[in-house]
Amino acid sequence: MLAALREAYKGEAMFRPSSISRLLGCPGSVQLIARSPRETRKSSVYATEGTVAHQVAQDALLGKRQPEEWVDRIVDIPGPDGGKWVPQHDGKKAGWLVDAEMAEAVGLYVDEVAKRWTPDTMQYIEHGLTLGALDPTDPIFAENRGTADAVLADTRRGRLTIVDLKYGKGVMVAGDSPQLKNYALMGLIAFGTGGGWSEVETVVVQPRATDERQRIKSIVHDPADLLTDFLGKLGEAMHRSLDPDPPLNADPTGAWCRWCPAKVTCPALQREATDLARDAFAAMPPLGALSDLGALPPAVFVGTQDQPRPAATPPKGTIVLPPATVLDPGDIATILQRRPLWEAWITSVEERASSLLEAGVAVPGWKLVRRTGNRRWKDKEAAPDALRALGVNTSAMYTDPELRSPAQIEKLLPKEKKGAIEDLVERPEGALTLVKAENRRDGIASPMGAIE
Ligand code: SF4
Repeated sequence: MLAALREAYKGEAMFRPSSISRLLGCPGSVQLIARSPRETRKSSVYATEGTVAHQVAQDALLGKRQPEEWVDRIVDIPGPDGGKWVPQHDGKKAGWLVDAEMAEAVGLYVDEVAKRWTPDTMQYIEHGLTLGALDPTDPIFAENRGTADAVLADTRRGRLTIVDLKYGKGVMVAGDSPQLKNYALMGLIAFGTGGGWSEVETVVVQPRATDERQRIKSIVHDPADLLTDFLGKLGEAMHRSLDPDPPLNADPTGAWCRWCPAKVTCPALQREATDLARDAFAAMPPLGALSDLGALPPAVFVGTQDQPRPAATPPKGTIVLPPATVLDPGDIATILQRRPLWEAWITSVEERASSLLEAGVAVPGWKLVRRTGNRRWKDKEAAPDALRALGVNTSAMYTDPELRSPAQIEKLLPKEKKGAIEDLVERPEGALTLVKAENRRDGIASPMGAIE
């Protein structure tokens, strides 16, 4: 089983620290991911943005270029459309434009690492770690590997510190999350459990969190706890994931299903998402990693105040959605608590629809259209002279050190000159977005042709 999974993962680690919450909660996901179409595992704009932030941080910690020096520069990185991704910035390469927000956010992380550095500290940046050395006779441990953002090893004080940058602002990550504990455990193994470590600190720096208390979260662990309790749970889950039909456990709060690459095809997530609304008496078969994805139930009955339930017994598999007015507070609380999971599932269905349409497969009633891109200067070097000729003051032209956007400059111009900048600007293609077929915008033809 391990060899077959390794082949399916094509060299990627089966147990990455970032996926340990999912492994612990849903051991069956490891095999389901191996059987999922690879197009469901494509990178998102947010993931690309995070990668760029890590690159800026790495540069700063290695003493090459400080985050503020990155503002208005482009990190070469291929990525999906959207965000500040620039398809071709020098006629050849794609990249991501670093802005002041990213520089400031990364600066906070760099400061947190610097605060923990002492002359006795060895600093390892973007350092590959693994549990492989724990038991060389059991190859499963080598599948638990990943790259730690920053590891600080202070041998004099016996203190190991793991600092992790989270650039996202939507989902808050705890300082003692399984991902951080996994890095801490790997650090203990990599730098020697007999190294006299008296404590391991894990720090999550999430600079864009709106709640200031969420920006820096630090926990100090006892190495013995990590090496017994946490390692025991982790080893058990890794081995369990290789069982012939390991359990699939959807998480009602969406915590580990949200990022699961198998969510598009997961029968357990589908069941969880429809379970609450399904007729309470309809028996559901038990599901495992080898279960087939069943078809969606054939009918939906949406209840009303006057008729909350179907008058007659509906066909088997009918989804019955009761009106909110008949739900008691307990039902309401349960539904709201499960909302993240349903949203994760719906998002996965949208992603799948977009992938199919991009590949030329028709999805009845839906199409892809292109968003309108924001205007930008065709030539940032030449634009200031042309704007001065239109009467715009140099001092008003910049938000130090950047040239203001076309929309901002337009506001500085008298009414009769507003159209004069049109020759200086261009509108890049926007990202593709899924809309209903009746939307008035023209649908985008798939580059691969139509498949009905
Ligand atoms: S979507 Fe959720 S339940 Fe399904 S495999 Fe992934 S983690 Fe498990």
